[in-house]
Amino acid sequence: IQSKLPGVSTTIFSVMSKLAAEHNAINLSQGFPDYPCDPMLIDLVNKAMKDGFNQYAPMPGSPLLTRNIAEKVENLYKVKYNPDTEITVTAGGTQAIFTALTTIINNGDEVIIFEPAYDSYAPTIKLLGGLVKTYELAPPNYEIDWDMVKKLFTAKTRMIILNSPQNPTGSILSDNDMQALIKLISGTDILILSDEVYEHLIYDEQKHQSVMLYPELKERSFIVASFGKLLHATGWKLGYCLAPETLTKEFRKIHQFNVFSVNSAMQQAIAQYIKEPANYLGIGNFFQEKRDYFRGLLAESRFKLLPCNGSYFQCASYSDISEEKDTDFSIRLIKEFGVATIPVSAFYQKATDHKIIRFCFAKENSTLALAAEKLKNV
Ligand code: PMP
Ligand code: GLN
Repeated sequence: IQSKLPGVSTTIFSVMSKLAAEHNAINLSQGFPDYPCDPMLIDLVNKAMKDGFNQYAPMPGSPLLTRNIAEKVENLYKVKYNPDTEITVTAGGTQAIFTALTTIINNGDEVIIFEPAYDSYAPTIKLLGGLVKTYELAPPNYEIDWDMVKKLFTAKTRMIILNSPQNPTGSILSDNDMQALIKLISGTDILILSDEVYEHLIYDEQKHQSVMLYPELKERSFIVASFGKLLHATGWKLGYCLAPETLTKEFRKIHQFNVFSVNSAMQQAIAQYIKEPANYLGIGNFFQEKRDYFRGLLAESRFKLLPCNGSYFQCASYSDISEEKDTDFSIRLIKEFGVATIPVSAFYQKATDHKIIRFCFAKENSTLALAAEKLKNV
């Protein structure tokens, strides 16, 4: 058959996790916690199953969950989304991204992404016949010069994908960024897909600049969130999409045919769990401590740490250690030193190797300490 995605191979996250398992390496590659989620959450799922939540949930999501998401969003951001018409529960952030892009992108439409970028954006755009226009962020700060973004605009520009806090760089967008973006798109019909799956993972008293805080952006944005990150349960594959009614109406037309609805017992459990803000509000501090702990440990290594303002990823340059390509270096780290990471070149479409690798620090401190012991020998 003719490949719909020529040039695309198995995602780096599967490749590195598989290699880590084969070589019995400590897996700091794919982003997922190595500790259990809250047992209370599991009890709530058990209870929901016993209570009979075992058949299809309503297509847009369990009413209790969409209501409680609306409440959570309003508590956090003082912004209202209508649970019936503007919130859709999805199979993780990934399906929300896929569905939002499918809702909007037609043959020949252009989408601007910021690289290094999460690896699902570009293939999804291409699958839809869209064109990826890339803005390359430069290490170590990965900041955006919005005048340069403007140069990417054409009559075909349909969408911009934002991701703050960003995977893999841990960079975040500021209020100045948002103001510049507002100016840039005013008078255009460009839409925004704002991937905010790491919204709570933001450090040093900085504030998450959700697009929903800016009415000019909110009215043209799909916002993607993930319960995998919020609840330390990435395997549950549950998330949601916030968007104004007109966008949500079209989003749901696609959603109903690519998944219809998602796990009803887990939706019921999560709805009850997030009703209590104390169950998730500490997550920023929790990960900030891990970031600081891990950075402290690596300070004694030859890796040069890049800034990390958010997400659960720490990037590091190994240019003082080796001139190898980052893919080769990461494979050698697994085989010779027993630590799996992600080569950041995997987040670019064109081979772009800045000699930087990404560590996931959503791990037990004992795992991080063990990994650091090994990394000090590199
Ligand atoms: N966006 C980003 C930036 C991610 O890092 C991830 C994966 N962790 C996702 C989306 C997908 O989230 P989910 O696992 O909920 O599908
Ligand atoms: N988002 C996770 C990461 O960046 C992995 C998601 C996946 O494996 N698809 O590591």
